[in-house]
Amino acid sequence: MSLDNKPVWAGGCQCGAVRFRVEGALGDASVCHCRMCQKAFGSFYAPLVSVDEAGLRWTRGERKLFRSSNLVGRGFCGDCGTPLTYEAPDGIALAIGAFDDPSGIAPVIQFGIEAKLPYVDTVCTLPGRDTMEDEQAVEFLARIVSFQHPDHDTETWPAKDTTI
Ligand SMILES: [Zn+2]
Ligand SMILES: [Zn+2]
Repeated sequence: MSLDNKPVWAGGCQCGAVRFRVEGALGDASVCHCRMCQKAFGSFYAPLVSVDEAGLRWTRGERKLFRSSNLVGRGFCGDCGTPLTYEAPDGIALAIGAFDDPSGIAPVIQFGIEAKLPYVDTVCTLPGRDTMEDEQAVEFLARIVSFQHPDHDTETWPAKDTTI
């Protein structure tokens, strides 16, 4: 919450070079199955939530913009490639997965369903495994040091003790 009791949302890209902050209620959250969104996100569909541009601030770095058409721009981190925005004449939407806590931003509508991939609806019925269930990965996982920006704002980043 901000001082005047508006909800505050924050997020950014995987490497932390670009961070954003949204004050005020978010708009409708959606997924878009269109082919352009599949490409822009490198994924089955694009999870996006519209935001009031007046309440949006880029608190670290600047997104790069790819013009995917004459009317639409796709914002992303130029350093790590995380998709961040969909920007059209009628407003801007942010990638839900880029928020520090996407768990409360549930989609309420699907767009572009004519391009929906044929297996998308059955993904949730596939067998599932917890990361730590894979015994062969235990040694690998024990050696991993994450360079991903944490899910909160930071004073400085990368952290000083990070060595790449
Ligand atoms: Zn980045
Ligand atoms: Zn789309």
